[in-house]
Amino acid sequence: MNTTTGGKNSLSRREALKTLGTGAALMGLGMISTRAIAGDSPTPVTPPAPAPVAASAPQPFTLPKLGYAFDALEPHIDAKTMEIHYTKHHQAYITNANKALADHPELQKLSGPQILQSLGAMPEKIRTTLKNNVGGHVNHSFFWQVIRPNAGGAPTGELATAIAGTFGSVDKFKAAFTDAAMKRFGSGWAWLCVKGGVLAVQSSANQDSPLSDGAVPVLGLDVWEHAYYLHYQNRRADYVAAFWNVVNWTQVSANYTAALKA
Ligand code: MN
Repeated sequence: MNTTTGGKNSLSRREALKTLGTGAALMGLGMISTRAIAGDSPTPVTPPAPAPVAASAPQPFTLPKLGYAFDALEPHIDAKTMEIHYTKHHQAYITNANKALADHPELQKLSGPQILQSLGAMPEKIRTTLKNNVGGHVNHSFFWQVIRPNAGGAPTGELATAIAGTFGSVDKFKAAFTDAAMKRFGSGWAWLCVKGGVLAVQSSANQDSPLSDGAVPVLGLDVWEHAYYLHYQNRRADYVAAFWNVVNWTQVSANYTAALKA
């Protein structure tokens, strides 16, 4: 049901509208305009709205600024892991995403999140490549923002109230998130998302994004071995426990507020 019927290398307008006709959610996110749904513009999709986060930066994709030094998260996340993770792993997703999109000018006005939210409308030939590599770029851009030095502590304000309402307490939320991170077999991510206006903990395989499932990430943790193996080896549990010391709750709160408006 997700196959494209348009030209081999093009996203047909009909297909785009069919998928983007999930419409309300995308428009709510401010990621596409109503013209893309109902208008007669020659292109199936419009350029992204001004992006609130680096993950929404336009193409060609580039490494977003990290905002802190590679060693700034020590001892919780070591400098070498940060350097390789950012300059090698993240860069590789960017390189591969740009390469896949190079022959698709009709897709080059889309932001990373827009692509992930309408994966079914992407050309079948590059759909998996986009899921993996645009996913990798968007997920990592998001991840670098929800961690920072001298962070940790507890959520505050509206987010704290929502976490208490949904999970019972911050500790119970952390337990649920940790459980999701630990039970994700192999490579993937643990997430706190807003879906249907409520918070939910989930995990995803590989670089699959909650955006492709109609959810909006609020907090995410990379549990690929490349994210922790140099320092923690097989001890994923220690890495997940250390993660709470670097969570940037200010950013997570902002993500939550934005997600509610989506
Ligand atoms: Mn990673």
